[in-house]
Amino acid sequence: MKTIFQRIIDREIPAKIAHEDEHCIAIHDINPQAPVHVLFVPREPVANTDALADEQVELIGRVVLAARAYARRAGIAESGYRMVMNTNGDGGQTVFHLHLHLLGGRALHWPPG
Ligand code: AMP
Repeated sequence: MKTIFQRIIDREIPAKIAHEDEHCIAIHDINPQAPVHVLFVPREPVANTDALADEQVELIGRVVLAARAYARRAGIAESGYRMVMNTNGDGGQTVFHLHLHLLGGRALHWPPG
């Protein structure tokens, strides 16, 4: 069964798209945890960092660079931001298509709960 992000990539369901390129799509999180909360999703389906094959490592760099560019455009590069990839149960992953959360626009607490 397709994940919700695959259905968004395939344009089967709508989403608020923040950025798109040949490698990834970025959508505004439906339940934002910060003023900026955007999800960077590689078009290539891979469940999470645990499932990532060696030859897919470039996907990670692509989503990081896309998120960095978005953070600059959104004006949060200097104030700061966080990039997060949740993996499996204890990591808090709920959608099993790898994605990077970009969070910013407010001070973020550390360590996370
Ligand atoms: P994770 O818990 O790391 O798997 O993150 C999944 C994220 O996807 C959560 O922050 C959800 O709020 C978000 N989410 C789930 N469905 C949608 C959707 N249809 N559009 C945008 N964000 C979504």
